Amino acid sequence: MKSMSGGSARSRGSSCSSSRFKAVDGELPKSCSCGYKWSQQTSLTKKNPVRRFVACPVRDETSCKEFFWTDDPIPPRTMQIINELESEARTMDGQFKLYKLRL
Ligand SMILES: [Zn+2]
Repeated sequence: MKSMSGGSARSRGSSCSSSRFKAVDGELPKSCSCGYKWSQQTSLTKKNPVRRFVACPVRDETSCKEFFWTDDPIPPRTMQIINELESEARTMDGQFKLYKLRL
């Protein structure tokens, strides 16, 4: 279904152009303010390991940096464990599969 007309009175201009990431927990809009459908991604940063988020699909080509988390924040303790496992797994290389199974 393609309806680019987007009837509702949603004219927020192009506040999309700021270079800062805009993460909002809570309600997820249907699309980013460019009008594109979100692309599903998984964060692999130390701060937010294996968290899921949706991001603007054209954020590499435009200055749009919008994204939203789509799952709950990881509790600090769990995050620490994940990061520890990950760095251990990196050193041990081949053992990574094992850790994955235990998660
Ligand atoms: Zn966008």
